[in-house]
Amino acid sequence: MIIIASSLQAVKDRIARAAQSADRQPDEITLLVASKTQPAERVREAWLAGQTIFGENYLQEALAKMPALADLPIEWHFIGPIQSNKTKRIAENFSWVHSVDRVKIADRLAKDRPESLPPLQICLQVNVSGEASKSGVAPEEVAHLAAHVVRLPRLKFRGLMAVPELTTATALQRSQFHMLRELFDRLKRDGYELDTLSMGMSEDMDIAIAEGATMVRVGTAILGPRRYLIPEEIAIRAAR
Ligand SMILES: *Cc1c(COP(=O)(O)O)cnc(C)c1O
Repeated sequence: MIIIASSLQAVKDRIARAAQSADRQPDEITLLVASKTQPAERVREAWLAGQTIFGENYLQEALAKMPALADLPIEWHFIGPIQSNKTKRIAENFSWVHSVDRVKIADRLAKDRPESLPPLQICLQVNVSGEASKSGVAPEEVAHLAAHVVRLPRLKFRGLMAVPELTTATALQRSQFHMLRELFDRLKRDGYELDTLSMGMSEDMDIAIAEGATMVRVGTAILGPRRYLIPEEIAIRAAR
């Protein structure tokens, strides 16, 4: 059983070292803890160790765990694939959504975001690896989707997110992070006020930070192994 307070501190130290070697300030990088498959008690333990931002991938799982944590002012981020029949409860229960990848989902989130809540903070997920199985808008479609999302009410467009190819080839990963960074810079040159480049996970956060990540999403390095495999991992094992 890993002690969350110490693994959390170890990841913060790793972020600080990666920032320093890239000539960046550690406080330019926000840490999101990805808590999918982890029970509410582990989320609470991370909260008690000082973590306030958590990301969930599956709506049903998130809704099941939130009531047990309702006494904590957690900032919940939705980071998983979005089916259009789920937008209402995502818009009602999360502060951020990182995985918007099509007009229809953006429109529904805007319509479903309650007036009583602040605007929903939005990142567009980009498919930087070109893998058919991956969610995300194609790089050449980002400008079009951005132009649509920025005009929607109840949403605040904050930046871009990606999950690069799962590979040990660091040069390939780095080029995919770099692609996201270039798309981000291009949008900013085109006049969008963006501040969030959401990229980097347990295995590759150091490279992501070197390539300009402002938010890293870290699960296993802090909370330990997942309690069960997620669909993407089952697919990868089956393919081996
Ligand atoms: C699971 C997940 C993470 C965290 O992955 P780890 O390898 O456990 O750090 C980050 N982002 C997304 C979108 C995820 O699904």
